[in-house]
Amino acid sequence: MESYIPISFLNDFIFCPRSIYFHQLYGSMNTQLYQQKPQIAGKAAHASIDEKTYSTRKTILQGIDIYCEQYRLCGKIDLFDIKSGKLTERKREIKVIYDGYVFQLYAQYFALTEMGYHVKSIALYDITHNKSFPVALPDVDTEMKQKFETLIEQLNTFDLNQTGFVPNEAKCRNCIYNNLCDYSLC
Ligand code: SF4
Repeated sequence: MESYIPISFLNDFIFCPRSIYFHQLYGSMNTQLYQQKPQIAGKAAHASIDEKTYSTRKTILQGIDIYCEQYRLCGKIDLFDIKSGKLTERKREIKVIYDGYVFQLYAQYFALTEMGYHVKSIALYDITHNKSFPVALPDVDTEMKQKFETLIEQLNTFDLNQTGFVPNEAKCRNCIYNNLCDYSLC
């Protein structure tokens, strides 16, 4: 049986392909053991979604499991308003709209579309500053869609033992796995 890629890997893989290995290794452990402050704060921001307490309206889907056959992805959606067709991915704070954020939304978009929902718009939401950032649908932004598909391909073919990997010091400094990784530059 073919395996599915967790949606959360998309962002991690862009940050550093090697982080996926640690994510898999420590994914089932008590996260307090390796998570640092920003990750814990980000998780707290999602707590109401994970516990499905954000809204009791039946037209709002929140935190439901999703699978996307086309790209072999799995995960959860953040918030989807069935009535308006708006899909939102909430972040504790958004300083930069990273490609990984957009691709997480794409993954949710493709999964919901496969499930028969009509997703009319997608957006990122900065909880701290109460600010919404609309994102173009993948079929409108074909360049980003191509980047998304290339990323999925790279994820599927990545080999941890491949030679030529060059770590990035700035990323290693901000990496929650830097005390576990033998490639870490800090
Ligand atoms: S410590 Fe550096 S090389 Fe290792 S996973 Fe983190 S970012 Fe990548």
